[in-house]
Amino acid sequence: MSRLPAVARTLPSLRRALDDLRTRRATIALVPTMGALHEGHLALVRQAKRRAAKVVVSIFVNPTQFAPHEDFGSYPRTWKSDMAKLAAERADLVWNPGVDVMYPPNFATRISPEGPATADLEDRFRPHFFGGVATVVGKLFTQCRPDIAVFGQKDYQQLKVVTRMAADLDLGVKIVGVPTVRERDGLAMSSRNVYLSPEQRAVAPTLHRVMKETARRLRNGDDLKAVMTSGSRTIQDAGFALDYFEARHAETLAPVASIEDGPLRLLVAAKIGTTRLIDNIGV
Ligand code: AMP
Repeated sequence: MSRLPAVARTLPSLRRALDDLRTRRATIALVPTMGALHEGHLALVRQAKRRAAKVVVSIFVNPTQFAPHEDFGSYPRTWKSDMAKLAAERADLVWNPGVDVMYPPNFATRISPEGPATADLEDRFRPHFFGGVATVVGKLFTQCRPDIAVFGQKDYQQLKVVTRMAADLDLGVKIVGVPTVRERDGLAMSSRNVYLSPEQRAVAPTLHRVMKETARRLRNGDDLKAVMTSGSRTIQDAGFALDYFEARHAETLAPVASIEDGPLRLLVAAKIGTTRLIDNIGV
């Protein structure tokens, strides 16, 4: 069995561990996660290993990006198996602060991202989400001072928000995006997939199937509005409560009228039962 990565839970121990890793100017990659690790997260760790000498993985379920009615309390926490997986990938350090370390009493500062964070996609349904993400990612970057940070395209709008923030605030961190890792039937891997009943799990790949079919029809020259409407209907007919299914400009996330306005990205968010799934693909 591989050796478990070092673990830091306080800022002084993080600083000591980072000093050890940085000997001989080793480059450091950070992979921010909320734990409950799956193959999608591990693809980020592998990309990080390829691009930097040392890899730090943060595991922190960030309360400020959950609304009160969301699943902060029940979010899956699987520390032991996370550590075994990170040992197998030979991650160097796990940063696992408590909520009191990340947000000590009297904490009163929040990063308020705009641009891609106000594209009227996730932000329409989770208005506090990107403020919470930007604040915690800003803190993780300041705490870990990585050369690069690796994020999944699975959370496409989030990837754009973090990329914008790193540039706008001159954080000196290169943001790397990694393609979405999927189950064999196309369902995007997600820590929240464990919430799905067998029946819901069987229906869940509809999202990816509809996106692929929509992308094919758009490339064929079919009318964008008609194709999006028909895709939305298929998703709803499968039993989803649809938050959005949209075609946007892949870089700016601006609305588009036709494939000529591209490159395009299709983005979807929908609830099956109480579980909310998001996904996206390029056209
Ligand atoms: P999370 O733990 O859900 O906050 O995700 C941590 C990071 O893993 C984020 O950058 C996600 O975009 C990324 N991620 C989550 N699921 C996948 C996946 N299926 N494929 C690639 N990256 C993913």
